[in-house]
Amino acid sequence: MVIAGAGLAGARTAVELREQGWDGPVTLLGGENRRPYDRPPLSKEVMLGQAESSELDIDYAALDITLLQGRAATGLDPAARLLHTDGGPLRYRHLVLATGAEAVALPGARGGTGAASGTAPGVHVLRTLDDALALREVLAARGRLVVVGAGWIGAELTTAARAAGCPVTVVEASGQVLAGALPAEVTAPMRRWYAESGAALRTRAPVAAVRTGAVELAGGQVLGADAVLIGIGARPATGWLAGSGVPLDPADGSVRADATLRVPGVPDVWAAGDCASYPSARYGRRMLVHHWDNALHAPRTVAAGILGRAERYDPVPYFWSDQFGRTVQYAGYHGDAGTPLWRGDPESGAGWTVCWLREGRLTALLTVDRPRDAAQGRRLIDRGTPLDPARAADPAVPLKSA
Ligand code: FAD
Repeated sequence: MVIAGAGLAGARTAVELREQGWDGPVTLLGGENRRPYDRPPLSKEVMLGQAESSELDIDYAALDITLLQGRAATGLDPAARLLHTDGGPLRYRHLVLATGAEAVALPGARGGTGAASGTAPGVHVLRTLDDALALREVLAARGRLVVVGAGWIGAELTTAARAAGCPVTVVEASGQVLAGALPAEVTAPMRRWYAESGAALRTRAPVAAVRTGAVELAGGQVLGADAVLIGIGARPATGWLAGSGVPLDPADGSVRADATLRVPGVPDVWAAGDCASYPSARYGRRMLVHHWDNALHAPRTVAAGILGRAERYDPVPYFWSDQFGRTVQYAGYHGDAGTPLWRGDPESGAGWTVCWLREGRLTALLTVDRPRDAAQGRRLIDRGTPLDPARAADPAVPLKSA
């Protein structure tokens, strides 16, 4: 058993295999020279200086899992059942692809000499613990920060940087925050969060170039910065699989797994986590989910399949984000579900929820400081329980009773 990628999905796959009864050898290899760790704390507790590490609590020796740190997969020869790595080839009986995703950079940002992920000095991305530690130094020095992208990572880093007392300017190409994830009407109340934190948010401000010490906007204006964070998304880390026969999605670069997370056409190869997409019967489309919850649970399906108990993987996607002192949670998939239904008033200062319904049933919801709605909504989506829109719009009525 060889698992390529030692993030949450890879490490959980190794543990699940043991828990489900695989008693052969298990080798887990990761390109970073670190023991597997969790990423969500990187932009939260680790960035705020409240935690030094987020290492996963797994006893690899006790589980007889061979962990190869600082060992990158470089290619795959399925006919010979060989995984090529920068430390020589590894033969496999079963192979799990769990190489996750890598941060997308901008033209000019890659300098090759910087500390963080090969970016130019002073230009950062936030994907790895090393990236987080480099950014934490900027925060400690209260440097002027320009954040490119008002997405999830941009919002969380802005939160931490403002808490540290850094002057922050956020530049966003679209006209809204969280543009890749949510419709503008839903994110409109979130704009205020930036201003309230003391950060300057500039939307419709596409970036022309990023370099050490400056961000140049398409309009020609140059913003000076002690550090720049590029937070414009992540892309599956699958470049090393090109030409191997593993089907890669031409649009997003993901490994196109089947409904049981097996890789079609390539014997005994499976995929899980941020690097893999799968067909969802629940949503009638292929899903590429870059959320912690997916990396936690998909490994159970992969291990079951390897052990001959293949099952469909089709969960209700779930995600949370801590930003500007608020907990934002999202479950389901709203797609083209149309006009959202509001539960609570964002102007009131209290929490609020937005629900998307399809044929009288909840298909997705976004909650801000309403964890009960998130928990109940997730179950309602999963079960397909009908919902009365009038009752669901009343925040005093528990969602499960609406
Ligand atoms: P990864 O965590 O990317 O792990 C893949 C591992 O494989 C990496 O260690 C990588 O170095 C390694 N690798 C890559 N290429 C190779 C190779 N060729 N050979 C060997 N190893 C390789 N999700 C939420 O739901 N809520 C949050 O609040 C949240 N916050 C986040 C904050 C940050 C800063 C980041 C970066 C992500 C956050 N996420 C959050 C997303 C979540 O962390 C990911 O969905 C999750 O880490 C995916 O796990 P994974 O194991 O699939 O991939």
